[in-house]
Amino acid sequence: MTSTQRTFSRRQFLASTGAATLSLAFRPTHAFAQHEGDHLVTQIREAAASAKIEVQSLRGNVSVLTGSGGNIAVLPGREGKLLVDAGIPGTRIEITKALEALSGDPIKHLINTHWHFDHTDGNEWLHAAGASILAHENTRKHLSTSTRVEDWAFTFQPSPAAALPTDVFASHRTLHLNGATIELRHYTPAHTDSDVSVHFVEADVLHAGDTWWNGVYPFIDRSTGGSIDGMIRATEWNLDQATAKTLIIPGHGPVGDRSQLVEFHDMLTGIRSRIAGLKKQGLTQQEVLAAKPSASYDEKWGHLVPPNLFVRIVYAGV
Ligand SMILES: [Zn+2]
Repeated sequence: MTSTQRTFSRRQFLASTGAATLSLAFRPTHAFAQHEGDHLVTQIREAAASAKIEVQSLRGNVSVLTGSGGNIAVLPGREGKLLVDAGIPGTRIEITKALEALSGDPIKHLINTHWHFDHTDGNEWLHAAGASILAHENTRKHLSTSTRVEDWAFTFQPSPAAALPTDVFASHRTLHLNGATIELRHYTPAHTDSDVSVHFVEADVLHAGDTWWNGVYPFIDRSTGGSIDGMIRATEWNLDQATAKTLIIPGHGPVGDRSQLVEFHDMLTGIRSRIAGLKKQGLTQQEVLAAKPSASYDEKWGHLVPPNLFVRIVYAGV
C-alpha cells in the first residue's frame, strides 16, 4: 500500500463516522506518524466522545439516531427498547440521553447489522445495560477472534465476552416485539460476510446496514468477504424489498427511499462496468486509477470514500 492510498483510507474511515471526526482527519497529529491505520481507529473511537447525536422520528414509532458510528434505529415499547446497531461507546452519554427522551422503557434488545466496530463497539455497555444481542453468526465469529481489515491496515483484537452476540442466526429470523413484526435476513456476502437487513414490517422501515451508503461511495471490506458484485446483489435485493413508500436507513448517510437506492445501484453498476472493461483490456490497477474511470461520478459521490479507494476496491473485485 502506498502512502497516498493509506491517506485515502484514513480520510474515508474518519469521514464515515461523521463531521466531528472528519475534522480530525486533516489535523497533523503525532498519532498518524507511524501505524496510521491503528491510530485511525483509535482516533475515531476517542473522537466519538465529542460527537453530537441527532434523533429523527421515522414512522410507526421507529426512530433513528445518527452521529455515533453507523446509524442506529430504535423501537421503544413495553417489552423494552430495541436498538439496531450499537454505535461507539464514547458517545454513550449522548446516546443514553437521546434514548431516555424517546421513552422510559429499559434497553432490552440489540441487533448488529454486521461486525464492524462502528456498529458493535457499543455492544458491551448496552449488554451491561440489559440488552440481549442478536446478529448473524459471522458477526460473532469475527468479533470472537482477532480480525484484520487490510484496507484499514488494522487488526481488531477479540471483543470481550460481554460484547459478543448472545444469539445468532444463519439466514433469517422473525421477531415480534413491542407490537411490531421485525424481519431479519442475511445478505449473501456484500459489504462483509456478516451483513443483515432489519425490516420493521408494519412501519415499512428497512435498515440496510452498510449495504447502503446514501449519496456516497461505499466502503467494501474485502478482508471479510465484501466485494463490488456482492454490493450490487445486495442493492438489487434491497430494491426488491422496497416500495415507493419504504423508508430506508443506510449504514451511513441520511435516511432515504427507493429512488435514492436506484441512483446508488446505477452508480455501482456504471463504475463496475467501466473498470471491468479496462481490466479486461489488461490495464493494471495503477493504469486504471490513472484513467479515472469514476470521474463523471466523483463530484456527486466522492466526498466521503475517496474515489481512488473506491476504484481500487472495485478493481480488485472484477
Ligand atoms: Zn461497515
